[in-house]
Amino acid sequence: MAVDPSALEIVHYPAEVLRRRAAEVAEISDEVREVAARMISLMHEAEGIGLAAPQVGLQWRMFVAHVPESLEDDRSASSDPLTATLAPTVYINPVLTLPEGVVEPYDEGCLSLPNISGEVLRPPRITITALDLEGKTFTTRGAGLLARCWQHEVDHLDGVLILDRMSQLSRLRARRAIKDLERSAV
Ligand code: ZN
Repeated sequence: MAVDPSALEIVHYPAEVLRRRAAEVAEISDEVREVAARMISLMHEAEGIGLAAPQVGLQWRMFVAHVPESLEDDRSASSDPLTATLAPTVYINPVLTLPEGVVEPYDEGCLSLPNISGEVLRPPRITITALDLEGKTFTTRGAGLLARCWQHEVDHLDGVLILDRMSQLSRLRARRAIKDLERSAV
């Protein structure tokens, strides 16, 4: 195995890998399944709702998400559009299509940007098509936090961070935390 899944850890900005465009996963092997399992446990440990492969140092187009049902949300996790995942879900070679609605602001954080959050505008509903761990294609329409999570994670696969998308005011507020991360990496 080229990758030791147990050695994977979450990498922080300004790691290079977070800025590269990830490559499609060519074959869903045991290695991919073990990496996905490791990513899910790292995401849970860090109390995040999503984690993309570049965030563990791998240039793979894959992410995991586990978005709990929100109490305020009257839609259930089985409705269309979906707003939550019933269980941790793996998305391989994901593609987003059909954004719907007027872009909305929301304060996003990122496991690769500790102590930083910022307001990001995104469409409230979107459709994702991806492969699961058996190599089967699935398509799901999402809304709410789930739609937001998908868009944040697919950004990671293209080397895009919330730093690139957050409002001017949020960037200003996060300036010190960004500097601290840049300094700690040197
Ligand atoms: Zn992130």
